[in-house]
Order: sequence, then structure tokens, then C-alpha cells
Amino acid sequence: MGAAHVVIFPLPIQGPVNCMLKLSQLILSKSEAAISITFLTTDFIHGRLSNHSKAVPHFAEMEPNNFRFETVSDGLGPDDNPRGAYQLADMTCFLEDQAQTQGSKLRQVLCYGSSEFEFKKRVSCIIADGFFGFMVDVAKDLTIPVVYFETISPSGLWTYLCVPNMIAAADLPFQGNNLDATVTSVPGMEAYLRRRDLPSFCRTYNPKTAIIQLVLKQALNFPRAQGHILNTFDELEGDYFPHLRHLCPNLYNIGPLHLHLKCRMKHKMTNNLFSSSLWEEDRMCLNWLDEQPQNSVIFVSIGSLAVITREQLMEIWFGLVNSKVRFLWVQRPNSIMNDSNGVTEGQDLVVPNEVIEGTKERGCIVSWAPQEEVLSHKAIGGFLTHSGWNSTLESIVEGVPMICWPFFVDQQVNSRLVNEVWKIGLDMKDKCDRVVIEKMIKELMENQRDMFLLKANEWAELATKAVSEDGSSYNSLNRLIEDIRFIRFSIPL
Ligand code: UDP
Repeated sequence: MGAAHVVIFPLPIQGPVNCMLKLSQLILSKSEAAISITFLTTDFIHGRLSNHSKAVPHFAEMEPNNFRFETVSDGLGPDDNPRGAYQLADMTCFLEDQAQTQGSKLRQVLCYGSSEFEFKKRVSCIIADGFFGFMVDVAKDLTIPVVYFETISPSGLWTYLCVPNMIAAADLPFQGNNLDATVTSVPGMEAYLRRRDLPSFCRTYNPKTAIIQLVLKQALNFPRAQGHILNTFDELEGDYFPHLRHLCPNLYNIGPLHLHLKCRMKHKMTNNLFSSSLWEEDRMCLNWLDEQPQNSVIFVSIGSLAVITREQLMEIWFGLVNSKVRFLWVQRPNSIMNDSNGVTEGQDLVVPNEVIEGTKERGCIVSWAPQEEVLSHKAIGGFLTHSGWNSTLESIVEGVPMICWPFFVDQQVNSRLVNEVWKIGLDMKDKCDRVVIEKMIKELMENQRDMFLLKANEWAELATKAVSEDGSSYNSLNRLIEDIRFIRFSIPL
């Protein structure tokens, strides 16, 4: 085991787990840094990774001495219990409780990397998901420095951190129903931010809900961490960014992470790139894409957590079919919502014949796709996305313009930036209607295609520069690794 020992602790859901596995690989790629990593996740996530991805055997084979998985319960019961957007707050509260309980397995792993004597080695730094606001106090108790990894977008994060500001300015809770009213209490975003662009929890603002409590704790604890790792690159960030830096000067912009990893692994002889999917990837869709003309297909996905009502699903389906554009659509298992907010499989969907025929002619539907590979395929010309931060970055890297239909957390903010600031797509937000969808697809894929492609390619080039040798993200990652290696962090106050 190397000298510095880091525990990496992502929120146990697809996006953060993806990112932090990539971060682990990037840290370990600097072998002279002699850093060892304990990757702390839940039994459920570890089981899913073991079943559907190559992550577990990869690390066992490539990094037997410097990388170990450790797992704890997520408190949500048997594996077939729901684990989606609506369980996030409960799961986080459970993990917080465990982290604060003396002698719990979670606390021992945070302190020593393991609860088993033979693997125990004092931890020198914890890299925790930014959603775990409680980790600053836990780290302080354990006298271990903590650096946060913010897996949401920096712009979304900035709106979270401004929630106390918005409350003080009486922007929150909203007065009246006008979602188009501008928001003036988020510095650096005054020119374009409307109420409808704020994180979804702002619409139903209730100070007592668990999500608001978590956000307030995050805002309070943000400046107390020794640093923050952000999955972005300097050139992408706008006027609000200096405000974020003012709150915590030690920011590491090291993204886009997936591209950064590809770049650094380019010269290695072995294949170090693997998917960390929690669902079985349907790779047949790549064969289907091979048969489609260049830039002709719109990819449709709402990520790993968002859910959709039957009505919305049918509106999207009609919109896609009526646009006459080819489409590849991920319909994730358990993503169709029923009236009681529970989730159903959707077998009882009645799909009209014209829609079935249109799909047979021009569509391909899968339950989970190798998304990075799909977005980089030459047949892809657009992405109808829920605007999750990873999906947004993956699209930016490939120069693929987007239609944004955000669901929750930072996605409402991201979609506004895609449309208004980066100008690489259309924000469909709050309008899930077949006519709107058809029109937007035609705008994106046909009428305004050249304009969007031009902009999208500019951002893609900047992203590549940022992660190339001596680029902004490249240098930032080197600084992070050196800071971990020489333990240049202090204990939270
Ligand atoms: N993803 C995938 N296959 C799919 C759909 C999504 O591999 O069919 C991946 C996608 O590439 C991204 C992650 O799942 O890395 C989703 O993260 P994001 O932040 O976009 O959204 P979330 O799922 O957290 O809402």
C-alpha cells in the first residue's frame, strides 16, 4: 500500500459512482505518487457493479495492492426494494447516522479504510460526495482532512449554495405562480436565471423537507472542506464562478473526467477503459447505429434516476415518431411512474399502431445503452436528455447538440445554460407535448443544425484542450494528486 491513503465515498448512484471510479483510475495512473485508495460504496452498488460492469475485476487485476472496495448497507432493505430519486434523502440520512455512530463499520472504514484488522491503515484524506454535507463534522471528529467531489454541475451547486441568500432576499419561497419571473439573488446569473431554472426543490420549497435540510447543510459546510473537486473545465465556467471560488478558494476543475481518463490512458498498453454501468448494457444498439446515416439519429435518455409518467412517455413517443427522425431510446426498467408516485413496469401501456409502425421503421429501443459510445457514434446528431450533469458533459465532449427536458436537482439549471449560455441546444423544460417535441427535434436536427453544430464543436475542442498536456484540467489534476500525495490538507475547523 502507498503512503497516502484516501477513502473515496460517492453518493451510491450511477453518476457519482461512475465519476469517482474514473477519479480513482486517474489518481492511480500516477504510479510514482504511491497513493492507495479504499472505495467505499454500498452492498447494493457493489453487487450491481459485479454483475454488470468490469470495474470489480479490473481493479482486482490491475491494482491489487493499491485499491480495495469496502461496502456498507444503504439502509434501504433487500435489493429488490426501490432505489431511485425518491429514496435518495432517506439513504443519505441513514449513511449520516452510520458515519456518526461510534464503532459502526462505516465509521471504521472512514478512519482506517477497513473494519478488519489486517487491512487497517490510517486514512490520510477523505474524498466525499458533495451531497454528504455531514462529512465535514465526521472528518473533524476523526481528525482527517476532507475534500468534496461535487458531482452535480458547478452552476447547479452555486444555486444550492445560494438557497440561504434566496430565502433572505424573499426570492424563496416563490411569491405567486409566475415561474418566468427573474431571480436576482444568485450572483453571476442575474442575466438569465428564472424561477423555472432553479433546482426543482425550489418550486415546492418547504424548509422541513429532508432535501432542503440536506441542501442547507451543504451550503453551511461548503467552505469548511479543504477543497472541492469539480467535474468541469475552466473555459466552460461563467460569471458566477468567481463567487464560488470566493467561498472556497481551493477548487480543482479536472473535467470532463471521462475524457480526461481517455486522454491519460491513451499511451498505456493495456485497455484501462471499462464501463461502470449498474444495468446490463445492450450493445446491439451500436450495430443498429452502424446502419444509420451520419448525424441522422437522436439519442433519447433520462439517465439513471428520473422517472416519467405514462402520459409523458406517450407524448415523447408521438413527438419522435411524428418528427420522422431516426431515434435510439433508452427506456430504463422501473422508469415509468404511476399515479401514486410508485414505479411500475408499464406493461399496461397502450401504444397506438401508428406509433409502433413508426418505431419499427426508424427507431430502436433498449433498456440501457453504452451511452459514452453511443454519443461518440457518427450516426448520432442530437440528444434528448434529462440534463444530468454527466450526460451534459458527455454530449459536450462529443459535440452533440441537445434538447433538454430536466427532471430534478441541478438539471433545471443545466438546461438553461445549454440553451442560453453555451448555445448548444434547446430547453424544452416543463413542456412535454408531442407538438413541441416534434418541432424541437426538427429545429435541432434540421433547421438550426449548422448553428448548433458550430457551437457544439467549439466547446468540444475546448474540452479536449483542457484535458490535454498542460491544459487547465490537466494541471489541476496534477495539483490534486500532489496535494493528496504530500498530505497538504489540514483538518476541518
Ligand atoms: N448512462 C448509461 N447508459 C444509459 C443511460 C445513462 O451509461 O442508457 C450513464 C451516462 O453515460 C451517465 C450516467 O449514466 O454517465 C447518468 O448520469 P447523469 O449525471 O447524466 O444523470 P443521473 O442518472 O445522475 O440523473
